[in-house]
Amino acid sequence: MTDNPDKLTERRRRSLGPAYRHFYSRPLYLTRGEGVWLFDNDGRKYLDCYNNVASVGHCHPHVVAALHRQASTLNTHTRYLHHAVVEYAEMLAATLPGDLSVCMFVCTGSEANDLAYQIARAVTGNDGAITTEGAYHGNSTLVAELSPDSGRSHPAPDFIVDVEAPYTYRGSFAADHPDVDTAYADLVDGAIATLRERGKAPAMMIIDNIFDAHGILTPGPAYHRSVYAKVRAAGGLIVADEVQSGLCRLGDHYWAFEDAGVIPDIVTMGKPLGDGHPLAVVATTPDIAAAFAKTQHYFNTFGGNPVSATVGKAVLEVVADEDILANVGETGRYLKAGLVELASRHELIGEVRGKGLFLGAELVTDRIDRTPAEDAVHRILERMREAGVLIASTGIHGNVLKFRPPMVFRQQHADLVLAALDEALAETV
Ligand code: PMP
Repeated sequence: MTDNPDKLTERRRRSLGPAYRHFYSRPLYLTRGEGVWLFDNDGRKYLDCYNNVASVGHCHPHVVAALHRQASTLNTHTRYLHHAVVEYAEMLAATLPGDLSVCMFVCTGSEANDLAYQIARAVTGNDGAITTEGAYHGNSTLVAELSPDSGRSHPAPDFIVDVEAPYTYRGSFAADHPDVDTAYADLVDGAIATLRERGKAPAMMIIDNIFDAHGILTPGPAYHRSVYAKVRAAGGLIVADEVQSGLCRLGDHYWAFEDAGVIPDIVTMGKPLGDGHPLAVVATTPDIAAAFAKTQHYFNTFGGNPVSATVGKAVLEVVADEDILANVGETGRYLKAGLVELASRHELIGEVRGKGLFLGAELVTDRIDRTPAEDAVHRILERMREAGVLIASTGIHGNVLKFRPPMVFRQQHADLVLAALDEALAETV
């Protein structure tokens, strides 16, 4: 039943406590979704240019029907045999390159990254972990420590070392550096040396392939290749965190690491897999899975239940049937070109970044000093909401506008976003 938004906000504050945040100064009360559209309690329509969890569109009928069918039939867990979970694991493995053919099921990206570390530690015999400054990998106690700017209690535990992310707009090496990818990758040598000084070696390095929390970064293939080689030479595994960047999001491949032609040892996936249903996965090789199983059994009450697996299968079916990958590529290029065009007219935009339907526009008060324009971002988000378009912000300074819509977003939707943004930028000088 819908309620007055002010009253509901107050009830929420009392019943959920103060740790939760809203996106907008006046909380948005959404009551229905369909494709790329969301509707509020007054029936007002919003174009969703932000929510990646609704990967194939809000309430996709094929996914909803599959969920309903399985939920009406049986839901148990992975201690009984069920065809759907095996079929889903096989389908997911078929989208992955190399030897990545074993899937272990969890419910959230945080759990996936937590399990990835447990596996890496068991398999390598090391306990060191390398993460990137500015990263967010989740909210379990361990994974929060791997999330330097958002979750960590300071100082970091001694088995975790941070390395600077390849942020060419603000970092140690600028985009015009003659070998910028190698320069950033070489910083991993320092992280490995720090672990060694502490008597440790890496069990893993974890990499968010779109560096979302850093402000959306796309280093070249040489960065990934070099980092993979260094970590492996030091005895560690590579964990590719595809929770944000996975499932066709970048438009050329199912998984973002494929852009660099590399194959990680462990892949963690979450958000988009269930089109809104909580479903997350750790994929790895048979050898790594076998080495882990020597010391540990694994069970997750909800992870890999027949309903979740059926939903995951339905999402993969939609991705294939509706040629989502091609749409992400085409619409992503169109939206990015539109953002670049806006940057040519609006000084506030310092840099446009990203790929596929995962794009960022970093706002600065001036282009020489590159002072982060955080206030302008807030004003723009509010204005866009008033114009009926939902986007959000990211980045270590919170000054990067983030465009990451359901992947059924088309050119006509991109036009609406660009027109609303053009007006919002013009009004926000
Ligand atoms: N990894 C990345 C890159 C993320 O962005 C997030 C969530 N924002 C997570 C992991 C954690 O996922 P979850 O919220 O499902 O635990």
